[in-house]
Amino acid sequence: MTYKRLTLRHKRAARGRGFFATGRGRSFFAARWGRSFLAAGRIGAARIAAGICAAAAALCMLILIVAAASAPKPLQIYFIDVEGGQSTLFVTPSGHSLLIDTGWAGNNDRDADRIVAAAKSAGIRRIDFVLLTHYHADHTGGVPQLAAEMPIGAFIDHGPNREQDADTEQVFEAYQKVLADKGIKRITAKPGDVLPITGLHATVVSADGAVLEKPLSGAGEANPACKIAEKLPDDASENQRSLGTMITFGKARILDLGDLTWDKERLLMCPANKLGRVDIFVVSHHGSETSDSSALVDAIGARIAVMDNGATKGGDPATWLRVRNAPVLEDLWQLHLIEAQSSGEQVHNVLDRFIANLAGADTGHYLKVAVWSDGSFDVVNSRTGATKHYPAR
Ligand SMILES: [Zn+2]
Repeated sequence: MTYKRLTLRHKRAARGRGFFATGRGRSFFAARWGRSFLAAGRIGAARIAAGICAAAAALCMLILIVAAASAPKPLQIYFIDVEGGQSTLFVTPSGHSLLIDTGWAGNNDRDADRIVAAAKSAGIRRIDFVLLTHYHADHTGGVPQLAAEMPIGAFIDHGPNREQDADTEQVFEAYQKVLADKGIKRITAKPGDVLPITGLHATVVSADGAVLEKPLSGAGEANPACKIAEKLPDDASENQRSLGTMITFGKARILDLGDLTWDKERLLMCPANKLGRVDIFVVSHHGSETSDSSALVDAIGARIAVMDNGATKGGDPATWLRVRNAPVLEDLWQLHLIEAQSSGEQVHNVLDRFIANLAGADTGHYLKVAVWSDGSFDVVNSRTGATKHYPAR
């Protein structure tokens, strides 16, 4: 009996708790297992979802990194403030570099320091080529200071100095000493030469008083601006020997003629325009009265002009008007507010936002142009941080 009772109790107990229990027991277990299963399912799904999201995020990050790495990069051009001299740094997307002129000597290495700062900003530690347009102190004076601060691959110039002026001779000798002391390669260029710079195409258009004999590809149209009579005495200085270049990056064309004077401009531009159209014009000779003739500025049809003037150097009123009023020109940018002219004439200036350095303490702000191969470009004013975009035309 005891056995029977026990068996019965065990059977009842087994019915209530057993795995194959029926009735209330089954619902209880089923519900418990179901909740566990569902809960486990939710956790699993959440983990899977989290895994997918993490994988997707990683994939997105990878795509962004790859896209950033493969996105087209611009040619960077720094118009460095050397207080009325010239120093313009070109850095290609692959990090190759060309510096046109070095600014002045002296001033506690001010100009060399500013060039090094611009190079650092562009991510380079050496300059592949330093092109000297001519041997005046505001262009070549800074060579010893720069060479002391930064490695230079090679110099490019127009040949011997032919100006018998004590300052110019001293600047040229200091340059020759740097070449000899450091064993840096010197390239002498002539019109028509293509400079050996990777990542951009630079053709010499003027050097040592000579200019291109034939028009550049796509150029050669008759130039109606040659009829505008501007007659000045021919220049006999180093200025008219300036080494000028047409730089092409993709569809963009950039013209830098150093301090080339009006008489050599006419040889380049009259009766036919040997240069063709330009997007970015580095205003010749800081905007001085003997350069930037109508024959040049009207015919090149630049979209923007950048004037490397100082507070009281360059920016001659008549020249400023010729450059600013040139057909097609969208904007003139100035490295400095023009505060006064030695002639006492009333000065002209663009709006402040187009000027890198205003009156007062000089902090050496630069203008930077980022040029894309489709011909579009941005101008950044380092004083304001503002950027102006110029779409491809
Ligand atoms: Zn100059």
